[in-house]
Amino acid sequence: MIVGGGVIGASIAYHLTARGVRSVLVLERETLGAGSTGKNAGGIRLQFSSEVNVRLSQLSLPRFERFEDEFGIDIAFQQVGYLFLITEERDIPAFQRSLALWQRLGVPARKVEVDEIRSIFPELAVHDVLFGTFCGKDGHADPMSILNGFVARARAAGATFREHAAVSGIDLERGRVRAVHVGDERIACDLVIDAAGAWAPQIAAMVGVVVPIRPLRRHIFVTDNAAGIDHPIPLTIEFASTLYMHRESGGILLGMADPNDRPTYSETVNWDFLPAVVERGLARLPLLERTSVRTGWAGLYEDTPDKHPILGCVDGVEGFVMAAGFSGHGLMHAPAVGAIIADRIVGRPSSFDIAPLRLARFNTGEPVREHNVI
Ligand SMILES: Cc1cc2nc3c(=O)[nH]c(=O)nc-3n(C[C@H](O)[C@H](O)[C@H](O)COP(=O)(O)OP(=O)(O)OC[C@H]3O[C@@H](n4cnc5c(N)ncnc54)[C@H](O)[C@@H]3O)c2cc1C
Repeated sequence: MIVGGGVIGASIAYHLTARGVRSVLVLERETLGAGSTGKNAGGIRLQFSSEVNVRLSQLSLPRFERFEDEFGIDIAFQQVGYLFLITEERDIPAFQRSLALWQRLGVPARKVEVDEIRSIFPELAVHDVLFGTFCGKDGHADPMSILNGFVARARAAGATFREHAAVSGIDLERGRVRAVHVGDERIACDLVIDAAGAWAPQIAAMVGVVVPIRPLRRHIFVTDNAAGIDHPIPLTIEFASTLYMHRESGGILLGMADPNDRPTYSETVNWDFLPAVVERGLARLPLLERTSVRTGWAGLYEDTPDKHPILGCVDGVEGFVMAAGFSGHGLMHAPAVGAIIADRIVGRPSSFDIAPLRLARFNTGEPVREHNVI
């Protein structure tokens, strides 16, 4: 039983069916992809600062590159690269450590000086940039196509996806999962996977488990046609301000974290925040003055204290597995996580050790830090 019909729940369902499990049921409160999966920026990258996150990306990236072969769906994966712009002295040591890590792990990312940034993306204003980092394997893809790929293949192999099926309770018997409740219905099961994204703490609370995932609202705005850029542009991140941008349907997609927003389950667009995004966007990409904002939306990051997901079994509750808290990078890690969780469930050995990502790390004081997140 998988709670949550986002990209993580769907990937786990697919990978379970691919390992021969037929009795997979995914319960989704709204419609598939209605959570963060349908609201994200589609970014896929190797450039993380923790080894765990880099390895999750390294396991996932080849799957995105071959997605159409495996799933028969074009996910519009454009490997235009990710370009981080470092403008503050305080961020230099962390990116230097990242560069060393990437070299050790074989990530083809490199430091780029301002002249090279100008040649990669000539329209950027770079007067205040100290240096950048660039990885040409990174890029962006269409999130809903990725979701649809997992869902279609899982369904074809026997998994069932139920929409408008909100889980309202979980029965335990002597510390073991026995059933979930959906409305008046009690569905017997002995394994529940909590893939409810930002809402995962609500599912965990049903078995008495406290999970440190905070819902953080994040906005995206998209401009109309951005005339004047006739070449592919990398997904560009001004690290200090968290502004990021990439091509979207002829225009430019802009995202930025609102430092004044407190944790909230509200997904309403705060249009008062738009001027701050436009101001940063114009400062970094002046030709945006020729465009206007066409649309905007907000979704939730599922933020953990150390910006890493919570994966695997939970002490004290048999049959309850966590797969949530991706802290704004769950789409890009979905292929790896689906395979890793499915391997754990069927008892297949895995090359990826999820022990550092268990929930207990927050009690034992062993979090795994990530710096390169926005
Ligand atoms: C603005 C924005 C930009 C982002 N950009 C990127 C990016 O560039 N790259 C990237 O990798 N990630 C990005 N992310 C993060 C990414 O969207 C998430 O990490 C990912 O979608 C998590 O997938 P999920 O399946 O865990 O959660 P979700 O997609 O949120 O799915 C959880 C599902 O659980 C359902 N649910 C909740 N409660 C219940 C219940 N009681 N019963 C049944 N179902 C329930 C919800 O309706 C929801 O559909 C971004 C997120 C946002 C908001």
